[in-house]
Amino acid sequence: MTNEPVKKVLIVGCGIAGLTLAIALRQRKVEVEILEKTSKLGEVGAAISLAPNSTRILQSLNFDSKRARCTDAGSYSEYNEEGVAVDFVDLHKVVEDVGAPWWLVHRADLHEELTRLATEAEDPAWGPKAALVLDCQVVEVDTERGIVVDQHGKRYQGDLIVGADGVRSVVRQEVTGRLEEPSIYSGHSAYRSLYSVEELLQDPVTRPFVENPTFQNWVGKDGRRCLLYPCRDNTLLNLFAPTLMNADDAVESWRAKGKTEDLIEAFKMFPERLQKLLAKDPSPALWQIRDRNPVRGWQKGKAVLIGDAAHAMLPHQGQGASQSIEDASTLPIFLLDAPETMNLTEKLKAFEEFRYPRVTAVQERSRAQKEGPHERLGRLPSILIWEKIYEQTAYDVREEAEAVAVNLRR
Ligand SMILES: Cc1cc2nc3c(=O)[nH]c(=O)nc-3n(C[C@H](O)[C@H](O)[C@H](O)COP(=O)(O)OP(=O)(O)OC[C@H]3O[C@@H](n4cnc5c(N)ncnc54)[C@H](O)[C@@H]3O)c2cc1C
Repeated sequence: MTNEPVKKVLIVGCGIAGLTLAIALRQRKVEVEILEKTSKLGEVGAAISLAPNSTRILQSLNFDSKRARCTDAGSYSEYNEEGVAVDFVDLHKVVEDVGAPWWLVHRADLHEELTRLATEAEDPAWGPKAALVLDCQVVEVDTERGIVVDQHGKRYQGDLIVGADGVRSVVRQEVTGRLEEPSIYSGHSAYRSLYSVEELLQDPVTRPFVENPTFQNWVGKDGRRCLLYPCRDNTLLNLFAPTLMNADDAVESWRAKGKTEDLIEAFKMFPERLQKLLAKDPSPALWQIRDRNPVRGWQKGKAVLIGDAAHAMLPHQGQGASQSIEDASTLPIFLLDAPETMNLTEKLKAFEEFRYPRVTAVQERSRAQKEGPHERLGRLPSILIWEKIYEQTAYDVREEAEAVAVNLRR
């Protein structure tokens, strides 16, 4: 493996990880080509919570939160089965406390703004706009020569191939050289809905759900819960409602649908006002919550994995996207700031060594929390749980990566 600098990167997958990496590489004047299997860009209709560990990175990449219609998380309220508020955490001071905001954003809006920054935004200090190739499903990967081939037989070559192709990654199979183990069903499936805030405001029963933009977590005695939070400039309210379910009763797809009556039945222990809210969506999404065991060996030859391709995790910490963003912002530091005496393999290994403990810890915490926010930690006031969440999200991954890169020089 040579010590030649990486000048052109092929990114397989135009998701949150791939796009963020494309922007971070543009900032460092590296040429990027993104290969995406779908013929039209689009995202699942759902909101996503971006904690300060990722928003501080997005801010440094010129992410425009107004354009992406992000809503600031104002506070967190927890309700019990009787509908009584049992905990409240004020999140207004999050910027002051940890130096970056907490954003609630529609996935499509996040994706659109990342795509703009990667492929359209003009900035004289940045490198060329990333080239985006749609309808380009990578089917073959040559990790030694840095070549990938798409479903039409077209070849693409770069100094580095980055597998940002999600939970069913093709690049991962080539990099790890292992037969794919199926992803693991967690035992929970989750209902998901988006409600119009305007419509909820018109109904006196549902109005209290949307009067203040806030996280609301309705937690049942058996851990069943409905997490509600706003997005798109507080015009939509997002529901994430995980419940124990046989694998046969849900589908492994982010776009599959469930039935409103089943959703209401699953959460019938909660007060009528919550059920009235759940009834407002005639077609809630229902998807199996799955993850993968942590894998080692994210790199081989001229290829490396990031995002869900490297470490798919359960959604209970709301950190899948944020960890993908952390990966994407640190890979360029290892590629470009590590000593010139290190070859590509050594740099990619150093990247994996740096990221593996962090993402594995978050993966494990997400598994531990699948029964609800108080699982493993015991019944704690939310403020203490939030202190732990703060610890995790106050983390500045680039600061630490830069310090590690400096030490590699010694
Ligand atoms: C409903 C839902 C809610 C979530 N909520 C949160 C949250 O609140 N906070 C949070 O941090 N995370 C959340 N997550 C998790 C988060 O969305 C993922 O961890 C994140 O999207 C991973 O990004 P990625 O770019 O690695 O993968 P993906 O977003 O899956 O992108 C992979 C891309 O690669 C493309 N691709 C796949 N195979 C190929 C191929 N062979 N050739 C070319 N292209 C290919 C795909 O089409 C896709 O565009 C949520 C996930 C879901 C589904």
